[in-house]
Amino acid sequence: MQKIQMLNLERQYASLREEIDRAIENVLEKQHFILGPEVAALESEVANYCQVGHAVGVASGTDALLLAMKAAGVGPGDEVIVPAFTFVATADTVSLLGATPVFADIDPVTYTMDVKGLEALVGPATKAIIAVHLYGQAADIFAIAKFARAHNLAFIGDTAQALGAKYAGDAVCSFGDFGCLSFFPSKNLGAYGDGGMIVTKSAEQAAYLRMARAHGSAKKYKSEFLGWNSRLDEIQAAILRVKLPHLNRWNEQRRERAALYHQVLRDIDEVILPETVEGRTHVFHQYTIRVPNRDAVQNELRQLGVETAVHYPIPLHLQPMYEHLGYKKGRLPEAERAAGEVLSLPIYPHLLPEEIHYVGEALKQVMAKPEMRTKVILAQVS
Ligand SMILES: *Cc1c(COP(=O)(O)O)cnc(C)c1O
Repeated sequence: MQKIQMLNLERQYASLREEIDRAIENVLEKQHFILGPEVAALESEVANYCQVGHAVGVASGTDALLLAMKAAGVGPGDEVIVPAFTFVATADTVSLLGATPVFADIDPVTYTMDVKGLEALVGPATKAIIAVHLYGQAADIFAIAKFARAHNLAFIGDTAQALGAKYAGDAVCSFGDFGCLSFFPSKNLGAYGDGGMIVTKSAEQAAYLRMARAHGSAKKYKSEFLGWNSRLDEIQAAILRVKLPHLNRWNEQRRERAALYHQVLRDIDEVILPETVEGRTHVFHQYTIRVPNRDAVQNELRQLGVETAVHYPIPLHLQPMYEHLGYKKGRLPEAERAAGEVLSLPIYPHLLPEEIHYVGEALKQVMAKPEMRTKVILAQVS
């Protein structure tokens, strides 16, 4: 029996080993580890890649969100609109600043924020909105930007899963007041540890963020405001500089693999495949399908040697840590339904076509069992 891993990063490393080893050695020889030439160079390369003027390296995607919101003035008593279906960092950073996340439901096709419900969520305390470009496809950016402008809200893009994705021809990370990137190892552009970056068109905000990541200081040992210690380090930056020139090709390879999945899976009844909306370029950070009896399907696939993942099993408004906010089951039905049905299949640039065929055959075999097909998927209706 074959074993198909959800992600295999050894293959990518093998393809770039010499360059990456040399880049790391170069930093070791210089012994400059924090805020040196590699970070500065990567910041300018990423700013360029994102079609914005400025980029500020920080310790993680989570810190990118936290500091971007801080720069936008989010603080105690404020509210920030976030989708209910995303990685927890999109919301816990709001809470860490003393503000309250207000959860929006999602569009069942793109799994991103449903703009139809936004007006009902805005109130006098609303300060910002975070659009998450989930799985590698842009949210409905123009509509969200228009809503943000109309209500004078900061617009923050959580681009952790969508670096390289496009919307109406422009880089997804270029939209909004801030774009927040993550270099977590499994992301489309992954470091060998934690890392993140904030991109912005505002020189003033970039200057603020450079201070915020260094205890509020521009000058050593003089703190102008309450900041934090959140830096991308030189070794990670050096690794990312080797990888960045390959990102567009890797994203293209992800799209090719998604297209092959589509071809292999499209005839399986009761499996809903991911859709790319016209005008958006998907970078397939995840290839996420919907299936009835998801947990059983995942288990059966595991028996056949196929690893899968669930992104994400609990919508944020129903997380135990947000019980005090008083959301009840049924309040955000599309987020809840997605949490029960989504299943991410292995996808990465070095995944082999025969491995995709193997996954397809395994899924066919599993879905052919009558007990796997009994539950109707309601999302199909809407
Ligand atoms: C990965 C991720 C983050 C957090 O990034 P880290 O670098 O892991 O802190 C935030 N939002 C989304 C949607 C993510 O996928």
